Amino acid sequence: MNIYLEQFNNENEIDHEFFEKLRLYALENNVPIIKRDSLVLIQSILKMVNAKTMLEVGTAIGYSALAFVSSKKDLYIDTIERNEIMYNEAVKNVNELNMSKSINLIFGDALEVDNGTLKKYDVIFIDAAKAQYQKFFDKYAPLLHDNGIILTDNIVFHGCVENQENLSKNVRSMVRKIDNYNHYLNTLSDYITYYIDSGDGLAITMRKK
Ligand code: SAH
Ligand code: MG
Repeated sequence: MNIYLEQFNNENEIDHEFFEKLRLYALENNVPIIKRDSLVLIQSILKMVNAKTMLEVGTAIGYSALAFVSSKKDLYIDTIERNEIMYNEAVKNVNELNMSKSINLIFGDALEVDNGTLKKYDVIFIDAAKAQYQKFFDKYAPLLHDNGIILTDNIVFHGCVENQENLSKNVRSMVRKIDNYNHYLNTLSDYITYYIDSGDGLAITMRKK
């Protein structure tokens, strides 16, 4: 994000050194953590709606989940990760910040987790395999509280969704699925989606009442 604005967010960030360390780790190891402007946007939403429960699909190293609970102490997060190396790194990071009471790390494929073992959520954050977004949405939207919010990250995928030229076959196929998902969200008559040009693109979806 804008470096000038980022300085202010740095001043406010709880455990700033720790999160700087995670951002560096992510950069060096190519872990696609959430962009800072989308992170602070979500942190502000969590406060505005006084979120108490959140489901995160795609933990990676636990960066976003830790940033969410560190800025809102009464928030509880169930977060799902299928990659064992990422999961183990998340376990380490959650323990280092003493957040194991606030963050429940679930090791497994988010498409195979039994919804009966989960709860109802104020916020659902979809941030795992981009080609599967619609499946995650359909599986987990029933777990959303009436006034809940579904957030989806990476809906522009580095600008590749709007400009699909010169992409490898694999990337183009994935990007088409993100595009389909963005259109799909707008076909849902029970939901309204706001598409935000923040970070790598963020969709904010809620039920129409
Ligand atoms: N939310 C994290 C970043 C997640 S990156 C942050 O912002 O800090 C996406 C993660 O989703 C990767 O670690 C990947 O292994 C995981 N993932 C992809 N598909 C998944 C699936 N079907 N089930 C569980 N995890 C998945
Ligand atoms: Mg993301």
